[in-house]
Amino acid sequence: MTDTQDLAALQRLTELDDDLDSDALDHLEEEAEKELMEEMENENLACQSPSMSSRSDESESSDYVFGPLAPDDVADILHDLREVGMVECLRRHIMPNPSRILDILLSLGVMLPRSMLQEADEEPYMLLPILKMVFIRILRQRQKLPHYNTVDDAIQLLRKSKRIVVLCGAGISVSCGIPDFRSKDGIYAILAQESKYELDDPSDMFDKETFLRDPSMFYSFAHSIYPANFEPSPTHYFVREIEKHGKLLRMYSQNIDTLEQKAGIERVVQCHGSFASATCTDPRCKYQVDGQEIRDAIMSKRIPMCKMCEERRKTKAIKRQKIDESDEDDHGLAFGIMKPDITFFGEKLPDEFEHCVLADRDQVDLILVMGTSLKVAPVADLLSHFPPSVPTVLINRTPITHMAMDILLLGDSDPIVGYLCQQLGWPCEHAAPDAPTRVGDSNVWLFPGAETDHIATETTITD
Ligand SMILES: [Zn+2]
Repeated sequence: MTDTQDLAALQRLTELDDDLDSDALDHLEEEAEKELMEEMENENLACQSPSMSSRSDESESSDYVFGPLAPDDVADILHDLREVGMVECLRRHIMPNPSRILDILLSLGVMLPRSMLQEADEEPYMLLPILKMVFIRILRQRQKLPHYNTVDDAIQLLRKSKRIVVLCGAGISVSCGIPDFRSKDGIYAILAQESKYELDDPSDMFDKETFLRDPSMFYSFAHSIYPANFEPSPTHYFVREIEKHGKLLRMYSQNIDTLEQKAGIERVVQCHGSFASATCTDPRCKYQVDGQEIRDAIMSKRIPMCKMCEERRKTKAIKRQKIDESDEDDHGLAFGIMKPDITFFGEKLPDEFEHCVLADRDQVDLILVMGTSLKVAPVADLLSHFPPSVPTVLINRTPITHMAMDILLLGDSDPIVGYLCQQLGWPCEHAAPDAPTRVGDSNVWLFPGAETDHIATETTITD
């Protein structure tokens, strides 16, 4: 690069009045998503994309952040962005190699219309305004609110808040005996160990395409995760108690175990679907039944067939059509069978999810994050949709450091809610433990079950 080009490039990096605002970026992403949807419809098959897909929780899995850059490189860039500011970050990471703009955008999960990607091939700097807007969004992410730090603050917040959003993950069901997905004893680890299924990656068990190619594999395994004989935890009943007090705006659950319903919670969204219903895999049929109807098949490891499709096949007129629609013509895919409505990789999230987020964001006055490390979309992204002025309390075994939490109550969720209920005068099945230990002067409080390995290095997150 010559000096003149260098100068021009630098000037471009420092100009902040590029004509792209947040709405324009939304619009571009919508356009790209539409293109992708059309493509998927054409193929009759969903393919994985960064803005949909992704289920289960815990651990920084490659399912979520993927793109041309390694997660460590992305982390470096974001670190620089926050520490040295946008211009210096761009100078360090973009100027030596402008084609990195596209790599960074893709690695951050930004979707762009195809036409734009082609143009950017020739003129990488045309994507710079987009990258700047994305960086601005990242910089806008919530900061810790300085005036909420103690357990008593958390109790006061629970007492006075009227529209609480609860975000929860596998951690609230662990005490019920339900295995989570990504921990060392979790479902993926078991699948990898058993190696009785031919899976490149254990998470392929929940991949839509793999399922359509061979549903028998999923059905020989599904009985082991079917929520048949589990009972809700004290933490589920704590959320029910919040609801009984008229304070629950919404519970967003990443779990598919339906224990929320079993605990009587009504205002719940299952972000990854659940076993509560099942739908025919044939996109021309989509017949839906109550999950109970396929329960026997799941428990006896049979593949549940679609009654409507079988009925149609029986009728003569459709028989002729069936020749056209036979398995071979469906690219060898298993259409006409029932699949539980849990969201597989490569499937769109339930519509309800988006509707609820939009409805809740102007109302929420307290966010409780429970039993999840908020590392996998979509629940991980929820916080950025809610106003940064809403106080956020974490109840989890391990701290969250990639997003600012105002108060961190670390430990098993059941004793923590036991303590909170005792202080609030609410009923709770779990006995209250002794008062928690504060880590230094920080906003981190330790209850039984806290994974303290993380603590020494993590207390720096507090103000
Ligand atoms: Zn059907």
